[in-house]
Amino acid sequence: MNYFNNLNYIYQILISILIFYIIFTILPFFLNINKKKIAIVGGGIAGLSAGYMLSKKYHCTIFEASDRLGGVARTINGIDTGIIYMKSTHMYPYLTRFLKHFNIKTKPLPITLAVANLQGYKDWVSNDMNNWNHDIYEEFIKFDQLMKYNKSNTDISIKSFCEIHGFSSYFKNYIIPSLLGMILHTNTLSTHMFKTLYPSLPIFDIPNWKLPINGTQSYINKFAKSIQQIYLNSPVKTIKRNEKKIVINTPHQQEEFDYLILATPMKINNKILNDKTKDEQDLFNKYSYNEVTVVTHTDENLITNTLTNTNSYSYIYCDQDTNINTISPNFKSTNLKPKPPYVSVSLSHNIPIKKKHVIDKKIYLHPDFDTIDKHGGYEYRMHILNKIQGKNNTFYCGQDTVNEFWHELVLQSGLYVANMLGVPPPFKSEGYSLFLPFHNIIGSDFQ
Ligand SMILES: Cc1cc2nc3c(=O)[nH]c(=O)nc-3n(C[C@H](O)[C@H](O)[C@H](O)COP(=O)(O)OP(=O)(O)OC[C@H]3O[C@@H](n4cnc5c(N)ncnc54)[C@H](O)[C@@H]3O)c2cc1C
Repeated sequence: MNYFNNLNYIYQILISILIFYIIFTILPFFLNINKKKIAIVGGGIAGLSAGYMLSKKYHCTIFEASDRLGGVARTINGIDTGIIYMKSTHMYPYLTRFLKHFNIKTKPLPITLAVANLQGYKDWVSNDMNNWNHDIYEEFIKFDQLMKYNKSNTDISIKSFCEIHGFSSYFKNYIIPSLLGMILHTNTLSTHMFKTLYPSLPIFDIPNWKLPINGTQSYINKFAKSIQQIYLNSPVKTIKRNEKKIVINTPHQQEEFDYLILATPMKINNKILNDKTKDEQDLFNKYSYNEVTVVTHTDENLITNTLTNTNSYSYIYCDQDTNINTISPNFKSTNLKPKPPYVSVSLSHNIPIKKKHVIDKKIYLHPDFDTIDKHGGYEYRMHILNKIQGKNNTFYCGQDTVNEFWHELVLQSGLYVANMLGVPPPFKSEGYSLFLPFHNIIGSDFQ
């Protein structure tokens, strides 16, 4: 009797295992098998946001060249080394709502901007306007007028804009990068972009800057979770398209897909796309880039001067033409005030940081608007992208498809492509006047 009871018990366990196996392995396989297949090249925020949406309807595969997802969104030891800041809901409407949806908490990050004591000028700290050097103050007022009332909503770089309007090189090379309040190259920043950013710069709106508590990595993981297949360490080498299929080749595999999403810079697209149409080639040729070296380090020599002059929480600090330092607070402490060792994220080509202080070093590509503008500028790029978007089952998103170079719009470019493939955006746009979804996506023909 006991023997039969045991057997019964074993049968029950085996049947449970079988049911478990069918539910979690066989069923999903059959559900996915009829789905059309999408290849997404590039696992930055654009590829991930497109993949997150499209995986609801398609079988999505991300090919990522490096050993991690996120691209420029890169968190090292809790410090973001690519994306540094995000602003309140009206500037980051979709990102803010995704953070809420994913239940990711943010912390406020008050910012102080500082410029070192160079060329005979006093230190300049943004929330201390009364103590500003008189010349800087005058230049700032002139700049303020131009930004607010000048109609030249042009696509030239902010650097050229300053030259045309006769600003001093100190203002152009030190004050402007500091004003920006984020690690962006002034050479690559268009006046058009600057004007949109301007009303929200830390100098006017210090309290509203934020960071996800555990850095951008926290939402990268959430986006990635629902995507059916992710290949890391898989740089796409060539892509061939025929009438029916898209064939992707990496050093490890060859695979066929129905649709292709290129979430990589145009420079990469130019390299990997075998059979470029004339329009595609034309567009790829319009892009050129600056390399931006970002060093995460603990070298306090670079920050002492600023720290002795102010006791704010976070600093953007320019000490040479190309050097911007962001001192990130130590978020492990409950107190927002940073504690030593101060971790800095420095943007530089030649900053003398001692090797022993370097935590991480990474080179990113920034579109170079100065050169791109010489090839017809934004209008022309928009015109061509509009022509090629969706043709040959190929879609484009990412940093080179938006007219302003930052995280929110790159995310929206992924949603835009998903929308083209029949998956509408998850949230409505009402109430957000600054960045209506897709308003800034190059080639966008709807809102
Ligand atoms: C230094 C820096 C600081 C910034 N700070 C801010 C900020 O404070 N706030 C803000 O809003 N925005 C900021 N930005 C802008 C914003 O972060 C970027 O625009 C955005 O993250 C770019 O996302 P993406 O997906 O288009 O590209 P990327 O993040 O560059 O992703 C592209 C991905 O493609 C992969 N790839 C490349 N070639 C291949 C290949 N052949 N096969 C497969 N994969 C490939 C790359 O490894 C990468 O992961 C900053 C940008 C930089 C460079």
